[in-house]
Formats: sequence, C-alpha cells, structure tokens
Amino acid sequence: MPLLVMKFGGTSVANLDRIRRAAKRVGVEVAKGYDVIVIVSAMSGKTNELVGWVNETSPLYDAREYDAVVSSGEIVTAGLMALTLQEMDVPARSWQGWQVPLKTNSAHSQARIDEIGTDAINAKFGEGMRVAVVAGFQGISPEGRVTTLGRGGSDTTAVAFAAAFGAERCDIYTDVDGVYTTDPRICDKARKLDKIAYEEMLELASLGAKVLQTRSVELAMRYKVKLRVLSSFEEQSDEAGTLVCDEEEIMESNVVNGVAYSRDEAKLTCLSVADRPGIAATIFTCLSDAGVNVDMIVQNISEDGRTDMTFSCPTDQVKRAEVALNGFKEKGELNFAELVADTGVAKVSVVGIGMRSQSGVAAKMFRVLSDEGVNIKVITTSEIKISVLIDRKYMELAVQALHDAFELDKAG
Ligand code: ADP
Ligand code: ASP
Ligand code: MG
Repeated sequence: MPLLVMKFGGTSVANLDRIRRAAKRVGVEVAKGYDVIVIVSAMSGKTNELVGWVNETSPLYDAREYDAVVSSGEIVTAGLMALTLQEMDVPARSWQGWQVPLKTNSAHSQARIDEIGTDAINAKFGEGMRVAVVAGFQGISPEGRVTTLGRGGSDTTAVAFAAAFGAERCDIYTDVDGVYTTDPRICDKARKLDKIAYEEMLELASLGAKVLQTRSVELAMRYKVKLRVLSSFEEQSDEAGTLVCDEEEIMESNVVNGVAYSRDEAKLTCLSVADRPGIAATIFTCLSDAGVNVDMIVQNISEDGRTDMTFSCPTDQVKRAEVALNGFKEKGELNFAELVADTGVAKVSVVGIGMRSQSGVAAKMFRVLSDEGVNIKVITTSEIKISVLIDRKYMELAVQALHDAFELDKAG
C-alpha cells in the first residue's frame, strides 16, 4: 500500500479535541487507501515546561537526564493518538523511539539520526495495522540511553521516517497554513509561499524560522523527500500549504524571498586576548567541549599583540560559556582581561537564492536599518543570506521594515 508520513506539531495535539481532529485527518488518508506513519510532538507548552523543570533542578544539567525528562511529552501524545484512532476503528499502535528503533549518535539533546529500523513497523503493517503512531523528537543512543534531536526535532523524525520508508509525501501539520515570507505572527504583510526551494528553506530554518527544524530540511533535500507544510486547523486539499522542493520547480522568485529572526541571541566578547596562533582554536574548542553552539564570530583588529574575540550563542547557553571560558582562564590555559556578555540582542536575516547573482542587497539592508535608527552590532554573510545582530527591542521593527523594503508582500 502507498504510505504517507503525517506529522502533527504541539498546537495540533494541544488537547484531546485537537488530537481527535488530527486523528480524523489521518482517517481521511487511511480511507483513501494509504498506510500512515503519524509523528506526534508533545502537547504545546509541555516541552518548555519539562525543560524549565530540568533547568530549575540542575542549571548545568547532565544532558542524558535532560533527554530522559524532555522526551516524555511525546510518549503521552503518541499513546493518546493511537487510542483515539482505535476509537475510530482504525487499527493503530504507538511506538516510542527505542521501540522502532530510531538509532542516533550519543550527542544528547542534539542527537543525529544514524538509522531507522523499518522491519518491526513494516511487519505490523503486514498484519493489518494501518497507522503507526511514533513519538517524535526521540531516539536511542549506542549506549542504550534515550536521546532527543534538538528543539523542533519532531520535524526531523518525520522526514527521516519518510526517507526510510519511501513515503509518497511527508506532510507537516502545524498552526500556520504554510511557509511565509516571514513569521506571520510578527508581520501582517507576510505572504504565504506556494513553493520554496530546499536551500532557501534551509537558510530560513537555520536562521530562526522555526516552522521547520533545520535538520529536517537537510534530510528532505538529501533524500528528495516531498515535503509539505500545512495547517491542521483547516480543511485541506492535495495542493494546500507550501511545498518545499528543488529550485528548478519554482518559476518565479524575488532576489530576497524571506526574512528570518532569532530572538534569544547573546553576544559575548573576550576582551584583550593574546593575538597569536592557537588562541581561536583554544577558545572555540573550550566552548564546543562545553556544548555551546557558537554562531557568529568576529575578531577585532589587534593592538599591541592583543585582540578582542566576539561571538554569539543562544542566551540559554551564556552561563555554560562563561563557566567554561573563566574555568580555562583560572587554569592558565587562556588569558583575557574580561568576558562581557550582552544578552539583549537578536539576529535578523534576509535570504534569497537570487542574491547569488545580484549585488546591492547588503547595502540596501544596512540603509533600511539605518533609516530606522537601528544600530548593527555584528554582520555575517553567505552566498544566499545576510545576517545582522541588533538590539532585541528593534527586532520586530527591523523585520517589518526589511519585509517592506524588499517588497516581499508581492510575488516575484
Ligand atoms: P509546531 O508546534 O507545529 O511544530 P512551531 O511553533 O514549531 O509549530 O512552528 C510554527 C510557527 O513557526 C508558526 O506559528 C510561526 O509563528 C513560526 N514561523 C516563523 N517563521 C515562519 C515562516 N517564515 N513561515 C511560517 N511560520 C513561521
Ligand atoms: N516537543 C519538541 C519541542 O517542543 C519537539 C517538537 O515539537 O518538534 O521542541
Ligand atoms: Mg516545530
């Protein structure tokens, strides 16, 4: 039988009514003749609550126990979804990550998928099961411990299942009806895209557009998974939502196709470090060993053999970074005058594959920000994106001004 993967995010399974509504959508596809793998998130707010409990119990927590706690939300919804389907006379059962098994590496809280076993689920489909409900976001490490795939990781579970089982399509049901030019929650003029290229979606996701987890887009691109984002709150046709696809499938495009933001960024500076070979390696090895995800990096002009090293990371990792770097300093492995943290910044980025062939986007972006009186603290660019770090209080203003200036409300 043809197979579909359908993933329901937190707001789509937020309570029993919503689970019933989602189960009905699944029932529609089963009635059409599909076997379905349903991937569920935890009920909305649940994972945040669990993360909060972990942080309160142990600020520099053991990531293996973090995973043990935060993976529990999806276990509840998987069971409830299977029960709801059974009540509708759809043969279904739930699967936790380790039961599948979804094997990952040992990078707790940010694990990567190594392999998905298909035999057990396929055997059950062979016995007449029509829906396998899988708890998203979780797997099992080589050591036999529960792992999680990073926040938003159920999207990645869904795409990985679609690839492993050769599904006809992977539908991501969420609380918006597709991918927009920017987050419709902070920009009224955001426009829904019918199609978006994998590469643009990858940039938008990695720059903060949380509608899809970055890794899920990477996997979809690599395994050519037909990936669709659509609303679980509206009746859906087969063309609804946004299709994430190859660049060649898109006829029209603007130079800039999206604006992304990431709210909880922090900027840290090691003031006056020795400017000699090996220092950058020492600083960033220290941070990586401490599990800090460094994003932007700037090294200032050196004076008198000393320099300032600035980097950004998520605000909730600042403490880790400070403990790690100050620890190195105390051990004499690193010498800097002071470590200063600015936890009130946000990152705003413009993305478009058209930037490869058109110049002037950066100049325009910086002009727009300056006209709004927004000071730029750090800049990074790649072939198809430009990102700036600015004061968080200007974030929404900057997103809206850039959306207007690049005329994203109009189709290209
Ligand atoms: P789910 O719980 O279904 O996984 P998420 O909250 O992770 O949903 O992702 C959906 C949210 O992503 C939307 O509610 C929206 O606020 C946000 N979002 C950010 N950028 C975009 C964008 N470019 N297009 C659509 N949604 C976006
Ligand atoms: N529940 C997890 C989270 O909130 C995974 C997901 O929903 O994708 O991050
Ligand atoms: Mg999500």
